[in-house]
Amino acid sequence: MKERELRRQFASDNYAGICPEAMEAIIAANEGHALPYGEDAYTEKVCNMFREIFETDCEVFFVFNGTAANSLALASLCNSYHSVLCNHSSHIETDECGAPEFFSNGTKILTTEGAFGKISPEGIRTLAGKRTDIHYPKPRVVSITQATELGTVYTTEELRAIGSAAGELDLRLHMDGARFANALVSLDATPKDITWKVGVDVLCLGGVKNGIAVGEAVIFFNKALAHEFDYRCKQAGQLCSKMRFLSAPWIGLLSNDTWLKNARHANRCAQILEERLREIPSLRIMFPRQVNSVFVEMPMDVITALRDRGWHFYTFIGDGGARLMCSWDTTDDDIEVFVADVRDAVKSRRPGQGTL
Ligand SMILES: *Cc1c(COP(=O)(O)O)cnc(C)c1O
Repeated sequence: MKERELRRQFASDNYAGICPEAMEAIIAANEGHALPYGEDAYTEKVCNMFREIFETDCEVFFVFNGTAANSLALASLCNSYHSVLCNHSSHIETDECGAPEFFSNGTKILTTEGAFGKISPEGIRTLAGKRTDIHYPKPRVVSITQATELGTVYTTEELRAIGSAAGELDLRLHMDGARFANALVSLDATPKDITWKVGVDVLCLGGVKNGIAVGEAVIFFNKALAHEFDYRCKQAGQLCSKMRFLSAPWIGLLSNDTWLKNARHANRCAQILEERLREIPSLRIMFPRQVNSVFVEMPMDVITALRDRGWHFYTFIGDGGARLMCSWDTTDDDIEVFVADVRDAVKSRRPGQGTL
């Protein structure tokens, strides 16, 4: 087992394991028998914790992953002839293998360009107003990712403006919150300030990247939209029978603000990583770093040299653009070791190997 273990990487926050608080909560839940399918006391407790944290009555469901959370949430907001408006880099568009369209029986995703991975009120108005005839899929939902796929954060004011635009156009508002906690601590806001108070109808709240093993929460602030959502989950194979093991880890995350602590730690590590990388010539930080990722443009031979040294990272942003991501368990030492390898790779470049 041990010999197959990877050293801590900067590829994604889902490379990290389970945080101790979540693990303890799983072990505590492994006592005796419990009712299945979400009828257990752990699930009830977590749902109530969410209601306290978001300071509102809401409907909470647990599914196995973010793709299911987003897809099923969007399916519950749409009919097959509707459309979802989002930024072109959205996970629902680029990383879910068409699951939102599949689960909604054909709802179309309409994308718009937008700086820093965001959709703007103007972008929403343009996309929604492009066509109003019967031949065009009827705009129904605005989907935003908080924090975005490019590691930026919508400010509360930006969210408010998006909420108003959506309201004016009679569109529902979905938030992909795979890294919601990272955005929350970055903004120093309260959960309600950046969700239902700005008009978010449903939030897909990520737990995996924050420190649990499996499971995302789907939180409906607009409770009417949660109608028969339990059937949708069951039909999609997303109703966990031993639900306590999907819900209990959240007790670990939500107690004593562990989710915020984990997010703050990851964000801080990314800040240090960014500062250290800025000291190295030949690199360029691509976007404002606001959460736990740093997007850095590096010469291709430096990327290759780092990969040869065993570092994993994604370059989905395009040639030369690497996404580096910190997690709840990243250490200062990990950062130093990685940065030293980057320095070495840059230093050992031969003259004429080109610039960015
Ligand atoms: C990780 C992630 C998800 C969830 O992905 P799954 O692999 O399906 O759990 C959703 N949205 C964003 C923005 C993500 O980064």
